[in-house]
Amino acid sequence: MNDKDNNDETIKCDVCLKEVPLSEAKNAEASDYVAHFCGLDCYDKWLKKSEDEDKEDTIN
Ligand SMILES: [Zn+2]
Repeated sequence: MNDKDNNDETIKCDVCLKEVPLSEAKNAEASDYVAHFCGLDCYDKWLKKSEDEDKEDTIN
């Protein structure tokens, strides 16, 4: 059988959609789901994007 680490599940980065190993992904809890990122760059982009969306919400 496969004796290797069985833990190499991958996820898609929420921002650039690149596949990254779950163990290396950054994640952030959003209001009703957990977002995953390939790295801090994408995490940062996502944060700014969600802040923008929040602003739109408050204006209305
Ligand atoms: Zn990414």
